[in-house]
Order: sequence, then structure tokens, then C-alpha cells
Amino acid sequence: MTYFDQGIKLMSQPPTNQKEDVLEGVIRFQLSWNKNPLADDICLETLELVRSDMLRQQLIGQSAERYQGYGFGNISQRSEQGFIISGTQTGHLTQLARQGWCEVTDCDPMTGKVSATGPVKPSSEAMSHAIYYQLDPAINAVIHVHSPAMFNAASQLNLLATAADIEYGTTEMVTALQQLFLSCRPLIANEKDNSPNEKGNQPLLPHLAVMSGHEDGIICCGSSLQQASQKLTDILTLANALT
Ligand SMILES: [Zn+2]
Repeated sequence: MTYFDQGIKLMSQPPTNQKEDVLEGVIRFQLSWNKNPLADDICLETLELVRSDMLRQQLIGQSAERYQGYGFGNISQRSEQGFIISGTQTGHLTQLARQGWCEVTDCDPMTGKVSATGPVKPSSEAMSHAIYYQLDPAINAVIHVHSPAMFNAASQLNLLATAADIEYGTTEMVTALQQLFLSCRPLIANEKDNSPNEKGNQPLLPHLAVMSGHEDGIICCGSSLQQASQKLTDILTLANALT
């Protein structure tokens, strides 16, 4: 059993140092990084394909006009050891190839301790991905994007959202995302097949959350990369139709 198989029990314990971290505002990102090539048996084909689709829709990328020119958005997929995530500041690259991905093998989102192996360091937003993999073994993919259209349409489209005073990169944000996901769980009558129940409630996955305290920030997880990216595309289409 790996760290990421431990599921919800792991995160149900309140972090002992949360108060201190919240006061500081930012999680300490303590990276233990083994700079090594990715294991040969790691397949990146679907990650590259879906990332390209997100890039085409300008949900992931890098632009001089947006966010002071910093790269934005990141994408990950569950792996044997944890999850594979795009490397830090790779938004300008159309294809990452094996040099642009990293495997996170251990992560405690509440303390910001991350262990990773790969030719590049993991995205600094890896902790928000990690929380989902730890919450539910059915989650196999997480995509974090930036979209002014979706962000601004959040209330009109009735999207789940974290509180506006919760900033990205804090333990509060990780906790808020966790609570938002768990708040959907009682709606599910039959999680086994992840289908809507008799009352017509929505299935648990894909799950999308607006990060109100993080400019244009949206995060979406699903049972597969295709499911998560389709959800983002669908919501973007709805949001664009409103403007
Ligand atoms: Zn972001």
C-alpha cells in the first residue's frame, strides 16, 4: 500500500501545525527531489494529449498578458507510486516530453512536504492535486486551470466554490477543497457505479471547484483524464455562452 492508497482516513486527522501555517499564509513547500529520469514504464501519452487540449483552450499555458507572464495550470494522473504531474513553469511548452514531467511519490498537503522523482521539479501546486488522490481512490486525474470565463460565471452556473478569502497555497485552501469534495459525498446513493441516484443528484465524479481566492483558478478531478477534461470543456462552453 502506498501513501496515496491510504485514502480518506489519512486526511481526517486535523493537522497539528495548521494554526501556525495559516498564520504564515503559505504552506512550507519542503521538496525532497530526486533528479532522475522518469521510470521507463511510465506512459505519458494521455497526459500529453489532454494537456494539449487544455492548452488549445487556453486553460493551461503562458502568456505575457496573463498573470505577469507566469505559466498557469497543471495536470496530473495517478501512478503506481503516487501521481505524475507537469513540471514547474512549463506552461510555454506545447509538448513536455519525458523531460517535463515529475512523479510525486509522497506528499502531505497540510505540512507541505513533497517527495518527487523526475527530470524536473513538480508544480508548486502539487499539494492541491495530492489532496484529491488521498481523498478517494476512484480519482485518477486532476487538472488545475485558469479561466476568467468560468471563474466569472461561477455563481450563474452554480459551481461549487471555496470562500473568497482563502488564498491559494495555504492549508486553508487544501482544507476547503477537501471539505467541498466531502460535502458532495452524502448526495451519492450508489458510489459504486458513480451514477446519479433516484433523486437526480449529480454523480461524485467529475468534481469541479472554483478557487475564489485564486485569480481565475478552477480545479477539476475525475476518474480519468478524459472525464476531468471533458467536464472543464463543458463548463467553459456554458460559461462562454453567458458572455
Ligand atoms: Zn493556479
